[in-house]
Amino acid sequence: MDIFTAARRSEIMRAIKSKDTAPELKVKRALWGSGLRYGRSHANLPGRPDIVFPHLKAVVFINGCFWHGHTCSKARLPKSNIDFWRIKIETNKRRDRRVIKQLRRGGWSCFTIWQCTLGRGTARVAASLSRRRRSLIERL
Ligand SMILES: [Zn+2]
Repeated sequence: MDIFTAARRSEIMRAIKSKDTAPELKVKRALWGSGLRYGRSHANLPGRPDIVFPHLKAVVFINGCFWHGHTCSKARLPKSNIDFWRIKIETNKRRDRRVIKQLRRGGWSCFTIWQCTLGRGTARVAASLSRRRRSLIERL
């Protein structure tokens, strides 16, 4: 038995889902610290990217290694229900590929930062976006 009504429960779940996760906050802080300004809302883009830079036409996904099927040791499947997990992760990977294709068709540059290489990944994205920002400014 749930102590909340169905409506209240889905409200709570929505709030949890939309809250910034710790890795996301870390990346956001680092990028903001590099002078990169991201936008506020990104609910209307395919795949709901974690961070959107509208003026640079770039999006960033911060992927958990397990759920997005990274090729690192953190993404190893559990020993039980292995078929279930394999299908689940494969489905997620397919969706990720589809989303990126859709975004690229719309002219967006897509960056993925993996949780296992958060620091390095963030530095790489910051460098790339800073270069892009400079070249945009020079063209003005
Ligand atoms: Zn990984």
